[in-house]
Amino acid sequence: MSYEIRVFGDPVLRTVAAHIDEIDGRIAQIATNMVVPMYEAEGLGLAAPQVGIQKRLFVYDMGEGPKTLVNPEIDESDGEWMWNEGCLSVPWLSFDIVRPKTVHLIGRDLDGNEVSIEADELLARLFQHELDHLDGVLLLDHLDKKTRKGALRILREQAEASEDEASLPGGLFLP
Ligand code: ZN
Repeated sequence: MSYEIRVFGDPVLRTVAAHIDEIDGRIAQIATNMVVPMYEAEGLGLAAPQVGIQKRLFVYDMGEGPKTLVNPEIDESDGEWMWNEGCLSVPWLSFDIVRPKTVHLIGRDLDGNEVSIEADELLARLFQHELDHLDGVLLLDHLDKKTRKGALRILREQAEASEDEASLPGGLFLP
């Protein structure tokens, strides 16, 4: 089965994903399937809720092949780093957003082994962005009131404009 990337307005993007109790072949299959739309959309990462699956995992590829993190958590973060952040579920838009520069992420891989990663800058940003998706948070929630209002207006207009076309643009550079 092929997964489609859900976009802003789909309620699944606002739900808190469930902890994965057993990392089995079914979870591995979900991860394998998720990598396909991630590459098609040229994203660096993709969280399960973005394809309508309410489970705590995400896939990513920072140039070393696809990796999966299950039940990820950030237990430490430090510094500040500004980056122009986009989202495959919020097409066409990107925003300068400040977040911690470094994070320490813990979780499991698809074999159930514990994973511990010290991430900096872009990788740290990706982890924070994907974790947000697992908690139903979108990058819009990191904007100040005025910027957010403008963004929502653009999204509404785009939704109306594309109703007839039924096709969505891919090609944004991020998770
Ligand atoms: Zn995203």
